[in-house]
Amino acid sequence: RSGGRPDAAKDVAAGGTLAAGSEPGPGPSPARKRKRKRDLSGRSPMERCCRRYLKVTEVCGQSWCELQVLYGFEYPLVLKAEKERAEVKAGASIHLAREREVHDVVQVCVVTREDRQAVKFLNLLGMISALQTGCCVRELPAIGMLEGVFMVGVIDELRYSDKGELVLNELKTRRHKSLPSEAQAKGHRLQVGLYKLLFDGMVRGSLSRDQVVEHLELRLERALGPGVLEHARNLGFRVAAFGDVLDLLLVNLKYCELPCIDLLRLEYCHQGSGDIVGSQDVPFDEDQLRAQLRHYLSFWFGQREPRGVDIEDAWKCRMCSYAEHCEWRRGSSQGSVTVHTDKKLK
Ligand code: SF4
Repeated sequence: RSGGRPDAAKDVAAGGTLAAGSEPGPGPSPARKRKRKRDLSGRSPMERCCRRYLKVTEVCGQSWCELQVLYGFEYPLVLKAEKERAEVKAGASIHLAREREVHDVVQVCVVTREDRQAVKFLNLLGMISALQTGCCVRELPAIGMLEGVFMVGVIDELRYSDKGELVLNELKTRRHKSLPSEAQAKGHRLQVGLYKLLFDGMVRGSLSRDQVVEHLELRLERALGPGVLEHARNLGFRVAAFGDVLDLLLVNLKYCELPCIDLLRLEYCHQGSGDIVGSQDVPFDEDQLRAQLRHYLSFWFGQREPRGVDIEDAWKCRMCSYAEHCEWRRGSSQGSVTVHTDKKLK
């Protein structure tokens, strides 16, 4: 494998365990909201943030605070500092330790973006084979189009139950030995639901070459670097360019005959002791999930304003690294983040 967890900060994005700030204000009044500064360029947030795809954790972060997700793009150094926090690193090392239980983790030298993506796809190919033989896999890349947006994520674990059901198990690490609040759990449920949609889409063969190339902005003809070529050879694949790996993956997904995910489960583990705090099965209602997703995406399409937290959730602002910059929290009419456009990305 190419190293650590690609979205090591996902618990922060989805759960909002952010650094302490000062006391929150009441949030802007409706009149102030109307007055807030608008982006006159007419570009949607997706375009302003130069995004061709979204991470599942970014969308789930919206369920905690939409504005916080947007600030992550506007203040990248703050976000980087968040990822360096001991708590986030501890969570990432627990995930890596679990991954090592079922996979050999090897270092692969990558030079280009195509190399990096090729390694992820080679991993995925190995995981398809493992699932076909009934094995457990961890850190499975999941990608695909959902409601008009290309989305990427990493599934913590897939395994078969005693009854032969395919179970998605998402591990969340906890600083305290307690289950999360409803505000956090809401994002976690959304996350596993989106992973199911992505995985089910992949094994049903709905992922296309054009979607991957267009949204991840990769070049099919790009020759793979020597490190990736050697890694592919060791896995038994004969490839030369990125497009070879992508084609191999798409054919394997199309004919893999893997089942869709039957059960979604959240598992909470204490960071300090590694003890399991509890687990919860998550119901799956596709219509409801897609409606929720469309609501979150409408912000990225520029169809509505971003939202901060509701007054009853103002306690979240005390843990937010963007509190001192936050227009919503200050209730200011001079903010700089609000955008408005009715232009759709696609
Ligand atoms: Fe959201 Fe509060 Fe942070 Fe503002 S201060 S981004 S409203 S959590």
